[in-house]
Parts: sequence; C-alpha cells; structure tokens
Amino acid sequence: MTTVAETVDPPERNDLAPQRRLRIPVPSLVVLVGASGAGKSTFARRWFPDSSILSSDALRAELGRGEADQRVSRRAFEILHRDLAARLERRELTIVDATNIEPHARRALLARRPTPDRAGGEPTFEPIRAIAIVLDVAAAGVHARNAARPGRVVPADVVDRQLAALRQSATDEHLRAEGFDAIHRLIDPAAIDGVALAVTAGERLDVIHEPVLPAPLGQV
Ligand code: GDP
Ligand code: MG
Repeated sequence: MTTVAETVDPPERNDLAPQRRLRIPVPSLVVLVGASGAGKSTFARRWFPDSSILSSDALRAELGRGEADQRVSRRAFEILHRDLAARLERRELTIVDATNIEPHARRALLARRPTPDRAGGEPTFEPIRAIAIVLDVAAAGVHARNAARPGRVVPADVVDRQLAALRQSATDEHLRAEGFDAIHRLIDPAAIDGVALAVTAGERLDVIHEPVLPAPLGQV
C-alpha cells in the first residue's frame, strides 16, 4: 500500500510554497474530503477538467433550488453514485467533490469501483485505486472562506460539526482501513497552493499535470 509522504521537491523560489507532488494514477477515484469552505471545489476545478468532477453541490443546484437544497440531496447522491459507477466502469479518472467527512459516505464511493471478483473467475483487470485528498485546514480559515464565499454560506455551527467529525473519523488510520490506497493531507492554504499533480498512466513516465486554472490570488 502506498501511504503517501510523497516527494517534496525543493522550492524554485523562496517565496513560493515548497511543491509537494501528489501522484494520481489513471484511472483512479479521487475523493476530496473537507468541511464546507475548505477549498474542495476550488482545488478540483484548478486541477481537473470539469468533465471528470462529480459534485454534490452542482447536482443539488441542477435538481433543486440551489447548491444548498437539502430536499434533493438524496436524489443528488443517487445520481452521483450512478455516474461514478459508470465512469469507473469505463476506467475514467473521477474526482468526487463533496464533503465526504462521514465514513459511510466514503465507503459508498469506494464500493462503486468495479471489482475483479464481479467478473468472476480470474481477475481480469487492475483494481481502480482510491486516493483521498484531505483539505484539513485550520478552523479559522475554513470559517473565513465559508463566510466569504459568493453564493452559498453554510451555517457556522454546521461547519464546526464537520470539522469535529473530520478530526475524529477522517484520520489517516481510518482512511487506510476504509481502503484508500493513498492519502494526501493538506493542512494549510500554502500547502494547497504548493502542490503539483503528477499523473501516471500505465508504464508511462510521470506527467506533471498543468493546472486547469491558476491558483486563487492571496490567502484568506
Ligand atoms: P468547498 O466548500 O470546500 O468546496 O470550498 P470552495 O472551493 O468553494 O472555497 C470556499 C471559498 O474559499 C471560495 O470563495 C474560494 O474562492 C475560496 N478559496 C478556496 N481556495 C482558496 C485559496 O487557495 N486561496 C484563496 N484566497 N481563496 C480560496
Ligand atoms: Mg464546494
């Protein structure tokens, strides 16, 4: 199992955060974990094409009155799980942008991976790796970003509960036990800005992924 304390590249300039390379094998299931306001959607959009991102907020907005419409949450997750299973069946890199703080939420995602057993007999394909990217940033920063966010602001007490739950049940140990092959924990905005993604496909050499969008300017 690769638990990741991956390569730390020397910074090219002193004023930049040191780059920490996250290896993302293709195909894999990338599960973002973090409270509302931690920066999950920003991170996903920065690094991955929209077509590879499944977002519970986006689905709620499509089905209901907006990203926060809890009445359509159940249906949103049904669709998210269905789309996830279809994408993984096609062995497409997929990023799940939801809080994914509760263990049952993460287990449900990992269970959507096709298993060689299902084909019966000899394993016919490599299992799809599950990668957790935990945006484990300090409470003050999460609250500030949540409050400053255009559009939906999640009540502060809800964010506090998410942060407490994350600390309790999204430790590296838990995530490993749940079946994640790699766990990347980014603990401050500088660490989030300082990552570089290395996408590996089969036997090919690592390819440094160019961000889709630039890093947001400044730190909240
Ligand atoms: P999510 O709830 O975890 O999906 O968080 P978002 O990605 O929506 O981010 C919440 C707010 O913080 C948004 O207004 C973002 O623009 C802002 N934000 C996210 N990441 C960064 C960052 O690295 N730097 C700065 N300055 N703002 C950020
Ligand atoms: Mg979001």
